Amino acid sequence: MNFLITGAAGFLGSALANQLAREGHQVRGLDDLSTGDPRVLSPDVHFTRGDVNDRPKLWTLLQEVDCVYHLAARVSVPESVLYPREYNAVNVGGTVSMMEAMRDVGVRRVILASSGAVYGDQGEQPLRETAIPDPHSPYAVSKVSAEHYIRTIGKLWGLETVCLRIFNAYGPGQHLPPSHPPVVPHFLRQALRGGTLVVHGDDTQTRDYVYVDDVVSAMVAASTAPNINGLVINVGSGTETSIRELVKKVSEVTGRKVDSLYNAITPGGVSRMCADLSLAAQKLNYRSSIKLDDGLRLTLRRDPRFK
Ligand code: NAD
Repeated sequence: MNFLITGAAGFLGSALANQLAREGHQVRGLDDLSTGDPRVLSPDVHFTRGDVNDRPKLWTLLQEVDCVYHLAARVSVPESVLYPREYNAVNVGGTVSMMEAMRDVGVRRVILASSGAVYGDQGEQPLRETAIPDPHSPYAVSKVSAEHYIRTIGKLWGLETVCLRIFNAYGPGQHLPPSHPPVVPHFLRQALRGGTLVVHGDDTQTRDYVYVDDVVSAMVAASTAPNINGLVINVGSGTETSIRELVKKVSEVTGRKVDSLYNAITPGGVSRMCADLSLAAQKLNYRSSIKLDDGLRLTLRRDPRFK
């Protein structure tokens, strides 16, 4: 098949692009390199630098494409609180631009990388796709909006759409910005450096940490699975892990005794997150296969930054 992946030089986009190229597909990647790095892409991936809002560029890149993976986005929850306009322009505007270009060229299917963040605080766990979203940040609002745009205009224009609500993905190559880094690589690096692990909020918050290879397997399956048009599907590990347990596991896998500090003054975000994976199992034949301990070890082994 012919694929276009937006955000292809990022953490999940590059893992997906390299996997599809390994499987022998034709893969084009688009990324504006605001955070991504094209050097992580296999030479078999045809990379173009550009913005998702550049429709003439999209028209060119979409020729002969069967399926689009739309991953290009600004991805930091705390940053989105500071710059909501930018999150709206890229995550929502970029999605609408992509849909218009797909309609103009005649592409069949688009798969959106949405987020478990759309759920916010729900009474019941695990989180099912039928729960009414309760976004708590501009980032989460942008993902709910992108989902609505994709599904609504997909239906109006006859494009197949699938929204994957990815939970806390981690693994080698995850972007580690100086401010607000994602928790897993940040804790691994801090532990290896002998630094203190600072937890915002209290120690009871939970998250569903899913290894990158599992996310890639769900994304790959979504390109050909039948009867999924218009669906929203969770992609996680199905395991709820408290931040206290994460600290413990980081200490175990790094072999370092770590100090942790709980800063209850700064909010830690949503209190509990765990994905219900029944729909993913039924529609994508998806099963999370990598446990957190193993995923953390793989991350340490495969990511040169942790050597
Ligand atoms: P990432 O930051 O590594 O990847 C995003 C990529 O998009 C980057 O390479 C960036 O340069 C690119 N990009 C940003 N703005 C762009 C623009 N205007 N035009 C073109 N490219 C642009 O993040 P990631 O973790 O790989 O996330 C990929 C997607 O998956 C995002 O849509 C994110 O919201 C979603 N997601 C990620 C997670 C996770 O835990 N990693 C969880 C839920 C959803």
